[in-house]
Amino acid sequence: MKTSALLLSPSPSELDLLAMAGAGSGLVEAALRCTSPEQLFDLLEKGRSDLILCGCGEQGPEALSWLKTLAKRESWREIPVVVFAAEDRLETRIAALELGACEVLSFTTPEPEIAARLRRRLQQREELRRLKKSREDLARVALTDGLTGLCNRAFFDASLESEAARSARTGAPYSLLLVDVDHFKWVNDTYGHQLGDTVLQAIARVLRQAARKSDMAFRYGGEEFALLLPDTDVPKAQVLAARIHHEIADLATAYKHFRQPLTVSIGISCCSGEKEVEPALIIEQADCALYAAKRKGRNRTEIFHFGHPDPRLSAAEAPSDLRM
Ligand code: GH3
Ligand code: MG
Ligand code: MG
Repeated sequence: MKTSALLLSPSPSELDLLAMAGAGSGLVEAALRCTSPEQLFDLLEKGRSDLILCGCGEQGPEALSWLKTLAKRESWREIPVVVFAAEDRLETRIAALELGACEVLSFTTPEPEIAARLRRRLQQREELRRLKKSREDLARVALTDGLTGLCNRAFFDASLESEAARSARTGAPYSLLLVDVDHFKWVNDTYGHQLGDTVLQAIARVLRQAARKSDMAFRYGGEEFALLLPDTDVPKAQVLAARIHHEIADLATAYKHFRQPLTVSIGISCCSGEKEVEPALIIEQADCALYAAKRKGRNRTEIFHFGHPDPRLSAAEAPSDLRM
């Protein structure tokens, strides 16, 4: 990839010197000139820069104050800034370091030394990029379920926590669906664990496709999945549950040789957003609704209803048969 540099100076003649220093190092293949803070902001917004070469013309350290723009974003802070200031301008050279410059050189610095210093800074930048990428990859792996590619339980816990906080702040409702595959042990026992895994992967795909972009699908554990639906009240959550039953029925045609049809049971709980509800309680309520769906014969959805003193009864008595 080409190394592209931003050249910053209020003075056009100094920009020429910066361009020569960059080209002379043999490292800079593309350079953009910039003479004002507004232009700097614009260029940083628009394009990728690997390096910044900066001078301050005939002015003092105050001419470098526009480097403060670079502190505004993490990705900008990572660009190596090399300031050129004459050896006798101690105040300016110190100001440059305080504003985040990684090197302070002068136009009298020998070309090979400029090249060596720029190369080292570009290598460090590359190393930082690689480290960041591997950190992001690791974070992604840590939050993803290996079998289905859905987000995992750890990510679910964190997402529910933040959705509960968001709902308490904004008053917006949200819903939780717990989806459990019916008689799944039978699939494993009859056709083997490997086919069981394939079925779980197919169900995960159905859930991901059935949900909206703003919804989040998780593997909650074993053959249980969770869907977290921001800005979703009970009727909307029921629509999604109905769609899931439908699409699982479609998927089941691929497994019609199963003696036990492939179906799921779903428990829904909804937080209206009127008052803060502990995430653990929302899970308990969805679980309780799921339990009621199992008890009522499976392949159906039950909804937890607030207000009943006994949460198990409160879901079990709800007139919410959504059997397909
Ligand atoms: P129910 O309708 O009451 O939910 O019955 P069930 O058989 O689905 O429930 P049970 O909890 O008895 O069994 C769940 C099964 O899910 C048992 C376990 O072997 C299987 N299972 C859990 N995780 C995996 C997995 O990663 N791969 C496979 N193949 N099976 C799994
Ligand atoms: Mg289960
Ligand atoms: Mg099950």
